[in-house]
Amino acid sequence: MNVRPDGGRTARSVDVLVVGAGPAGLAAAARLAAAGAGRVEVLEREPEPGGVPRLCVHPGFGADPRGRALDGPGSARRAVRAAVRAGAVLRTGVSATGW
Ligand SMILES: Cc1cc2nc3c(=O)[nH]c(=O)nc-3n(C[C@H](O)[C@H](O)[C@H](O)COP(=O)(O)OP(=O)(O)OC[C@H]3O[C@@H](n4cnc5c(N)ncnc54)[C@H](O)[C@@H]3O)c2cc1C
Repeated sequence: MNVRPDGGRTARSVDVLVVGAGPAGLAAAARLAAAGAGRVEVLEREPEPGGVPRLCVHPGFGADPRGRALDGPGSARRAVRAAVRAGAVLRTGVSATGW
């Protein structure tokens, strides 16, 4: 999977930088990467992507294509897969501290 822990400082150039790999950031990254926006990179300060739903172990996060209810972690995994499949790069353990 294209999810990289990032301990170092490396200069990179991206076309789109998304701050935060929660549902909003992952959805934006998936759509933009799929639309051909170029190199789309998502920074996430936590060690794992997925945002708050990752910690919400209860249903209420929509359903999969077969209509089965998703819990938070399941929903987060789907969002991560969608972003990565679309071509976005996720970097975990990285905080944006300036703009
Ligand atoms: C207790 C609880 C229960 C909930 N239950 C439900 C539910 O049942 N169903 C439902 O649909 N919704 C539920 N929600 C709401 C849902 O979690 C939010 O709507 C959703 O997480 C918002 O997504 P987001 O991407 O905007 O933010 P977040 O999920 O908060 O994701 C933001 C991400 O950005 C990262 N980040 C922030 N600043 C930086 C930075 N400077 N650099 C790098 N990374 C950064 C954070 O670490 C985080 O991973 C619940 C929320 C809570 C708190």
